[in-house]
Amino acid sequence: MRKKLIAGNWKMYKTTAEAVAFAKEFKTIFAGSNTENEAAVCAPFTQLAALKEAFSGSGIGIGAQNMHFEAEGAYTGEISAPMLAEIGVDYCVVGHSERRQYFLETDETVSKKLHAAFEHGITPIFCVGEVLSQREAGKEFVVVRTQLAAGLSGLTAECVQRLVIAYEPVWAIGTGRTATAAQAEEMCAFIRSEVKKLYGEDAANAVRVQYGGSVKPENAAEILNMPNIDGALVGGASLQPEGFLAICSV
Ligand code: 13P
Repeated sequence: MRKKLIAGNWKMYKTTAEAVAFAKEFKTIFAGSNTENEAAVCAPFTQLAALKEAFSGSGIGIGAQNMHFEAEGAYTGEISAPMLAEIGVDYCVVGHSERRQYFLETDETVSKKLHAAFEHGITPIFCVGEVLSQREAGKEFVVVRTQLAAGLSGLTAECVQRLVIAYEPVWAIGTGRTATAAQAEEMCAFIRSEVKKLYGEDAANAVRVQYGGSVKPENAAEILNMPNIDGALVGGASLQPEGFLAICSV
């Protein structure tokens, strides 16, 4: 049985003081919710150490939103997987569409980052998803298949079993235009079937596939009740403790 993972992606929001205030409140209400779901917060680098401490003993995970694929080197401004591992980071978002769009991430660098994360004991949340013009042209499955094959290239089945894949249709991010639960389920099931083709049944049964894109308390239950959707990657609605808890505890 796959445990659902509800991960907040705070993007470039909150100072460390604001993050700690969130964590104190969220830790308390999450403990009182008795949910079976796993929760994690993917925060800017500067907040991770403070969040690790604030969430200690709560079972709530922390994640980064990006990392470099080399362990160290002359890469001004970058942060590496061992640096994140030292803090005790559980997850790292890899290949988010905003990084592909604004920071020129390619399938090749995404793949290198997935390898680097596993080498240092960090579970990647590997993002895939089509832009609107690709969906309108009926190319969404080809796009996602290509992103998956390129990103997963060279990973072992053991790694893929631990992986989290987030299907985030770019047209649904921050737009308020959520994919329907049926559209989300269709693509998450497709992703699982692609993993089965590449890595076999055990990997396909174990890999967790999230949906992301305008998930809110009002639509979370319908999406999270789908059989192939194992959680959500939540942007804007993860910034307030009460709202994020409402999604985590559906
Ligand atoms: P929103 O939930 O704000 O649409 O963002 C989704 C997202 O990009 C999560 O990674």
